[in-house]
Amino acid sequence: MNTETDSKCRLCQQFDETIDHIISACPILAKEQHIKRHDRVCAQLHFNICKETGVQLDKKHWYEHVAESVETSQGGKVTILWNQQVQTDRNIPNNKPDIIIRDIEKGTCMLIDIAI
Ligand SMILES: [Zn+2]
Repeated sequence: MNTETDSKCRLCQQFDETIDHIISACPILAKEQHIKRHDRVCAQLHFNICKETGVQLDKKHWYEHVAESVETSQGGKVTILWNQQVQTDRNIPNNKPDIIIRDIEKGTCMLIDIAI
């Protein structure tokens, strides 16, 4: 368009500032902002799971919610673990799912790992 605008990313100055670059490829944003976004998505999901399973929450909105390591529903039938290591019979390098829902009544354990 005959302008002097530089198309390079304003943060890293290495690649074109496209939507793809900002969302998933910028080396500057990937260090911190992508992890923050992942953690906020996990926090919202954790909040909704707590609400659904009857965990008593002290905050009204998900964005105020700070996940505890262990939450237990009223009555103690469901336990929700946040960022807890899973004990395995062999060495697994990444065995810390974001959320684990343990339902004592159903005898189930659901592991949730979120990829952004
Ligand atoms: Zn960049």
